[in-house]
Amino acid sequence: MQYIDSHCHLHDSRINQNLGPIIVRAKRAGVRYTASCSTMEENFELTAQISQQYPSILPFFGIHPWFVDTISSDWKQTLETYLTTIPSGIGETGIDFTDKSANQDLQLGVFKYHLSLAKELELPINIHVRKAWDTFIHVLKKFGKFRTPGMIHSYSGSADMIPIFEKAGFYISFSGSVTNPGAKKVVSALKKVSQDRFVLETDTPDIYPYIEQSDSQGFQLNRLNEPANIPAIAQIASSRIGLDCEAFCENVYQNSKTLFLSIFEKREKE
Ligand SMILES: [Zn+2]
Repeated sequence: MQYIDSHCHLHDSRINQNLGPIIVRAKRAGVRYTASCSTMEENFELTAQISQQYPSILPFFGIHPWFVDTISSDWKQTLETYLTTIPSGIGETGIDFTDKSANQDLQLGVFKYHLSLAKELELPINIHVRKAWDTFIHVLKKFGKFRTPGMIHSYSGSADMIPIFEKAGFYISFSGSVTNPGAKKVVSALKKVSQDRFVLETDTPDIYPYIEQSDSQGFQLNRLNEPANIPAIAQIASSRIGLDCEAFCENVYQNSKTLFLSIFEKREKE
């Protein structure tokens, strides 16, 4: 079976030194591509470099809502330069109001700029939304339908909002949180997503899935995640919504290929 990890952070200093073996294990597990999202200007170049070194890495450039206060005065120009010179997508970007002291206006301004670039440059966008769903829906209404599909990563919203996002042109991505035995909300969201709209991710190196290990430790949630865990997430996700794993995985693979199509097409032209 073939897989695409639709959201991870391979530039992260906790795993970057071991990238070689991580890529080998991903390949062995059938993971053909991994979308690797930068989080701030500081790691744009490393994200670009690793995607040149390993063609299975699809680079994404963007400012994560947690790091909006790191932006330089010419961040827009820097971002656009990476996006227009390297076949890539936009992200990780979004809004996160979990921390009540976060600068919500700055987050919104930065996020809206990413959304306008996604429309203008027709690039896939990798979106993070936490505790900001009403605001997100409000913003989406202003932007209208996206012609190039984007995705909402590690979906944590309710099932009833899914049709709004699908209509706006988005795919819904599920992470290892779908493997949490207590994750009823995420599972009901997964059930609600159209079969041609769900994708999977690890969010490496975070969100280690609930996979029982062979030793006496049981679940090892403190471990660093990696793309090779996608098949295990797919297996648990498909069984939790009562779908045949093989058919589910084939759907996920085709959906991710459609989602990232513009990146593949640009690479072919190079
Ligand atoms: Zn992430």
